[in-house]
Amino acid sequence: MLEKWNRKCAYCGAENVPLEIEHIIPKARHGTSRVSNLTLACRTCNEAKGTKTAEEFGYPDIQKQARIPLRDATLVTATRWKVYNVLEKTGLEVECGTGARTKMNRIRLNLPKDHHFDAICVGASTPDKITLNTNSVLHIKAKGRGSHCRTNLDKYGFPRGYFARQKR
Ligand SMILES: [Zn+2]
Repeated sequence: MLEKWNRKCAYCGAENVPLEIEHIIPKARHGTSRVSNLTLACRTCNEAKGTKTAEEFGYPDIQKQARIPLRDATLVTATRWKVYNVLEKTGLEVECGTGARTKMNRIRLNLPKDHHFDAICVGASTPDKITLNTNSVLHIKAKGRGSHCRTNLDKYGFPRGYFARQKR
């Protein structure tokens, strides 16, 4: 988020102030918490914006800018050493790997190309012999808990039908 929004408040451009994660379309008005709906704002702007959308607040371009995804490479460059340094500080053993080493290990161990086999092959500490005790792989998918929004709105912003309280 900081890289994407140049470490500034997206509304007033303030720098070197505490920045808050801000929903461009507010949660209360069906806005999601996806990166494409998030920006950074200083306390003053965040409070002034309230439950307005960025467009209603007078900043129609922010929505467009938010939709531009960070390229994977940019994202990795921006975060990789930060992640590494934070892990180092825990005192746990930390090891770096490269895609090339992973591939080399996978070929050396004669394993098929698959995400879970690649995971075994990351890093210099990959042993020379791997014993697999199972053939089944557990696939887990995050499904979310449903919407924060409790009612549908019509195009004028009036409530139209209410959602049940239950979440799955
Ligand atoms: Zn601001």
